[in-house]
Amino acid sequence: MINRVRVRFAPSPTGPLHIGGVRTAIFNYLFAKKNGGDFILRIEDTDQNRYVPGAEEYIIQALHWLGIDPNEGIEQGGEFGPYRQSERKPIYKKYAEQLIQDGYAYYAFDTSEELDQMRERLKIEKNPIQQYNAITRIDMKNSLTLSAQIVSQKLADKEPYVIRLKLPDDEVITFNDTVLGEFNFHSSQLDDKILFKSDGMPTYHLANVVDDYLMQITHVIRGSEWTNSTPSHILLYKYLGWEKEMPFFSHMPLILRPDGKGKLSKRDGDRLGFPVFPIEWINLDTKEKYLGYREVGYFPEAFLNFLVLLGWNPGINQEIFTKEELIQLFSLDRIGKSGSKFDLEKAKWFNHRYLQQKSSKEIASVFSLILEEKGIKSVDFPVLKIIDLVKDRATFISDFWELTHYFFIAPNNYDPQIIKKRWKEDTPQMLEGIVQLLLNIKELNPITLESAIKLFIEEKQYNMGQVLNTIRLSLVGSSQGPSVFEIASILTADETVRRIKKAIQQIK
Ligand code: GLU
Repeated sequence: MINRVRVRFAPSPTGPLHIGGVRTAIFNYLFAKKNGGDFILRIEDTDQNRYVPGAEEYIIQALHWLGIDPNEGIEQGGEFGPYRQSERKPIYKKYAEQLIQDGYAYYAFDTSEELDQMRERLKIEKNPIQQYNAITRIDMKNSLTLSAQIVSQKLADKEPYVIRLKLPDDEVITFNDTVLGEFNFHSSQLDDKILFKSDGMPTYHLANVVDDYLMQITHVIRGSEWTNSTPSHILLYKYLGWEKEMPFFSHMPLILRPDGKGKLSKRDGDRLGFPVFPIEWINLDTKEKYLGYREVGYFPEAFLNFLVLLGWNPGINQEIFTKEELIQLFSLDRIGKSGSKFDLEKAKWFNHRYLQQKSSKEIASVFSLILEEKGIKSVDFPVLKIIDLVKDRATFISDFWELTHYFFIAPNNYDPQIIKKRWKEDTPQMLEGIVQLLLNIKELNPITLESAIKLFIEEKQYNMGQVLNTIRLSLVGSSQGPSVFEIASILTADETVRRIKKAIQQIK
């Protein structure tokens, strides 16, 4: 028996990971690292009908992008493998049979029509609970109602069957969720869950419990949609004789839509205009493409930081945390009980903050690629200086083009609104004066330029706003950008003169 914390992230490869799942993976990772334990990735692919090609690779890539690679899993291997449930198929049958032998499970032979009829009948009788349970099973075709001989015959004839968990008829199943608190389920609220099918495949419930036991999982940290399955899992631990090895259960509250109305679903992302997936997902069948946070330009550290705080409270007045700090601080008891509203502005805020921490060199290494794509040779420009100048206005590296394009390409069009407001009869003459001033300036920098222009304005009694705004219009084409003195200094005196002359010519 391994004596340390072991947690698993156990997604089903039924599509791309939704950010709720990503957050669950992050919480598992942080909890494992905090406790010097193991973080396992187990692929729960028992439902072959719902298998989506590419989903498994997607999950692995998404965890990798976030920097939360598992230390045991289908890629890494490990002493508890295989880590893909479809490869563990032979393991489960014996447990299903053991449960039957011990009287905790039974064979059921009902066809889907018979099951429909049962539900229909219960509906007509206005029975609020329409499921296969301690009461209804008596009227169905199973090894509790049929003779042993008929059951053996059916099995020998290879008639399709399922193995169902035999729930007690009058028992309260209690568990204490580390996050959500105490739960009490009466067995009459639950159904006799299918554990195993005659095609040899276990269902989620059996495979999940068997694997958690065999992989020596100590803490189950998963989405709150699994809360209602937990009592059946607890019974399985008990019936299989594993009560002492039962893990702690922690269910994560939902991530809600920005308006707080309901769960943020996979479909909401398109509707609400932001991604719900960590990285790009391409549906191989329909070829539909969904953007991820990575493609929008989020830094993985920023996205991780944002997601962790969506539901977990660090207990201190700090919002920006390195992964190491999060590992140090993380605890399950600081996860909130209620859902957290997704907040896109907050996500952007985190990215903005992380961008400010990046050196201009780091930013330049990506921004230069954007420039090259536009046919601009970044080596010909003082890119680092340009980045420094506008960095505090950027949220994503892709914003830099919008913020700085005029440094690389002189404007051809000039904002008509500004022309209307600022371009007066004497403007060309005034700008000629600025051109002269620039030609005479010895060392052009924002300070020398500012004092020279201010002196010029004072001498000629010009209006400061008009001068600065028309220079800006000539250099940028609009009212955009940082101080005119900074812009001109980066452009150089020659280029500034060229642009002013061009504007005088073009604006009538
Ligand atoms: N396969 C389940 C899922 O897709 C795992 C739930 C659990 O962690 O037990 O979410």
